[in-house]
Amino acid sequence: MTSYWLSEPCPPLLAHALDGPADVAIVGGGVTGCSAALTLARAGKRVCLHDAREISGGASGRNGGFALRGGAAPYDVIAESIGREPAADYWRHTERALDELCGLAGDAARRVGSLRLAVDEEERDELRAEYEALDEDGFAVEWHDAAALNGALAGRFPGGMFHPSDAALQPARWVRRLGALAARAGVEIREYSRVASLDELDAPVVLIATDGYPSGLLGEIEGLIVPTRGQMIATEPIEERWFEVPHYGRHGFDYWHQTPDGRILAGGFRDTSMDSEFTANEQTTPTVQGALESFVEELAGRPLRVDYRWAGIFGLVLDFMPVVGPVPGDERLWVSGGYSGHGNVLGFMCGQLAARAILGDRDPLLDLFEPGRLLGV
Ligand SMILES: Cc1cc2nc3c(=O)[nH]c(=O)nc-3n(C[C@H](O)[C@H](O)[C@H](O)COP(=O)(O)OP(=O)(O)OC[C@H]3O[C@@H](n4cnc5c(N)ncnc54)[C@H](O)[C@@H]3O)c2cc1C
Repeated sequence: MTSYWLSEPCPPLLAHALDGPADVAIVGGGVTGCSAALTLARAGKRVCLHDAREISGGASGRNGGFALRGGAAPYDVIAESIGREPAADYWRHTERALDELCGLAGDAARRVGSLRLAVDEEERDELRAEYEALDEDGFAVEWHDAAALNGALAGRFPGGMFHPSDAALQPARWVRRLGALAARAGVEIREYSRVASLDELDAPVVLIATDGYPSGLLGEIEGLIVPTRGQMIATEPIEERWFEVPHYGRHGFDYWHQTPDGRILAGGFRDTSMDSEFTANEQTTPTVQGALESFVEELAGRPLRVDYRWAGIFGLVLDFMPVVGPVPGDERLWVSGGYSGHGNVLGFMCGQLAARAILGDRDPLLDLFEPGRLLGV
């Protein structure tokens, strides 16, 4: 039940206590909360950040480690619903955030690209349409025909799309590093401090950055960011180097890659037990774990020992758009979350966007992410 990423030892955070009330209190010490805290502190704000666990103890330290540009839905699908230029602007924002993330992450990020694979002809056609839209709009992207997919991929996938600017993360190392930067910038970080009520927080502005973990603090909006469980395994290290870059297929339901020490990490297969995976319970289950093990055995051509198994929770939103901005009906409350399983880059970017908006510098991109849309206001 231990995340492979979180099992890496980390240095303690710089202890820092504010000598009075905070300007902004943040609930949630994952990538979103740490990113917002750093931006606010660097702008001179007094920030106190609370997490019920340690920094990165939520989904930020339990995820697949894919740092992907773009949103949670395919580019052409988003362009169809919001328009081509707004979609391109959204994607460019995420590319800039990914550049900045890689600059800060040091050896916690490897800029190796990512490979999105089709499992059948229908998915191949969908990927091809997305590829063409990205290519036409000037985004770096490469098409790989089935013949170009070699090694352990040969004969399995009818095509794929390579995103050269994406990265593979050690996400817990990255977010702990981001937390350390925030602490050094003057943020008071209170780990193992669950906030049970907004009345506990002595600050004129409160940002809830808990994504899929129900904080109990968001009222009606909370139920509209649906807690969804993702499960993963990490195998023993192996000699072969098959999956140097993040691979994902079957509409993102399956994802896998190899760590620098040779382990295969695989996640997904939520759809083998869809109903039971809409939960905030961080347990692993035999059904999904069994599906992950069989999948890895098939890829490797032999059974591999599983050294780590774990689960995490992410927040799913019906329209696959993040939820970032002030919460209607409560003047001091803000939210940033709902990345629909795509929060490594979006969380970093949206934490910054929320912080800048709190500072009075609101990016028009936030029009797309308005929390009020979930409530029909
Ligand atoms: C298995 C899995 C695989 C994934 N793979 C990928 C991937 O490869 N690429 C990608 O981009 N995204 C992926 N995601 C999604 C991504 O991990 C999340 O979207 C992202 O980490 C969200 O970051 P966050 O900071 O908003 O929230 P989190 O990192 O989840 O942090 C929220 C924190 O809030 C705290 N909290 C909640 N309530 C309270 C309270 N009342 N008081 C105090 N603290 C509270 C929790 O303890 C938690 O630490 C995956 C998610 C899972 C679960």
